[in-house]
Amino acid sequence: MAAIILDGNKIAAEIRSEVAADVKSMAAAGMRPGLAVILVGNNPASEIYVRGKVKSCEELGIYSEKHTPPETISTGDLLDLVRQLNNRDEIDGILVQLPLPSQVDSKKVLMAVDPAKDVDGFHPVNVGFLSTQRPGLVPCTPAGIIEILKRSHIAVAGQEAVVVGRSDIVGKPTAMLLINQNATVTVCHSKTRDLPGVCRRADILVAAIGRAGMVTRDFVKPGATVIDVGMNKVTERAEFDQFFKGNEKREQVFLSKGSTLIGDVHPEVAEVAGAITPVPGGVGPLTIAMLMANTVRAAKLRRGAAVPALAS
Ligand code: NAP
Repeated sequence: MAAIILDGNKIAAEIRSEVAADVKSMAAAGMRPGLAVILVGNNPASEIYVRGKVKSCEELGIYSEKHTPPETISTGDLLDLVRQLNNRDEIDGILVQLPLPSQVDSKKVLMAVDPAKDVDGFHPVNVGFLSTQRPGLVPCTPAGIIEILKRSHIAVAGQEAVVVGRSDIVGKPTAMLLINQNATVTVCHSKTRDLPGVCRRADILVAAIGRAGMVTRDFVKPGATVIDVGMNKVTERAEFDQFFKGNEKREQVFLSKGSTLIGDVHPEVAEVAGAITPVPGGVGPLTIAMLMANTVRAAKLRRGAAVPALAS
């Protein structure tokens, strides 16, 4: 039986409309949330991501401003900018778009962001809050994964969850959120022995690897929920045929754009999984939606308002 498709666009739209309603009532009370985005240099991919974030703020009524220092900026000057934003009360969230140029000490810059304004949830203080279940800010993509599970009524407590990938941005915080939701969690990485065997234990399998279509049907227990975080571009005809041969819709996209996106999960997995997130249109749309939600959360936390516990 074909898997249920977990529609990330629909879930993201729900969250965005909740955020917009929240922003409206906060603005009416004179507390309009504000996000500052720092985009260094002219990385085309970063420019696209930042444009999407600023546009999203505009749509939801969040105040936003974009700072675009030159590619040649020093660590010191970037730290000065971050400190200025830390000190401005109308700015609730600060997002430093990565990657930064090689002369900049990225860790130092990220550490300088006030944890209360760290809407990416990367600061060690927020990592600590997450692991000790205190109110804080959670990285957007992992928070989005939990929203997909919750809003699709997929049970997490007591389930076996396997997360493939242990990055600070996706794998580790996702594992921590699943533990906090009472799943029994295994985290896999490039040194894991018998990866397919470990993955087959999963009731919930999260793939955050960065390798096109690596998770094949032999990784998946029939009926499992599969969350595909991967975003890999397919540009070669041979690779396209390996994954999408006979898929007319994809063929049209591939021919018109010269590329198509594939996750870390092979399309054949949809034949064994119980539920699966598509790529595109699965986890991706949740990332910006959760950035907006985090900005509102940061605004509330900074003003001492009650907020729900992390990913509850
Ligand atoms: P990353 O920092 O490169 O981490 C990849 C992880 O996968 C590492 O822990 C690595 O293990 C593991 N891995 C690599 N090859 C493996 C293999 N053959 N077997 C088992 N594990 C393996 O990547 P990331 O930032 O977490 O991102 C992962 C994917 O998610 C990428 O495709 C990225 O584009 C995508 N992503 C999507 C969104 C979204 O909004 N949808 C957001 C963020 C990221 P080691 O630790 O041992 O090296």
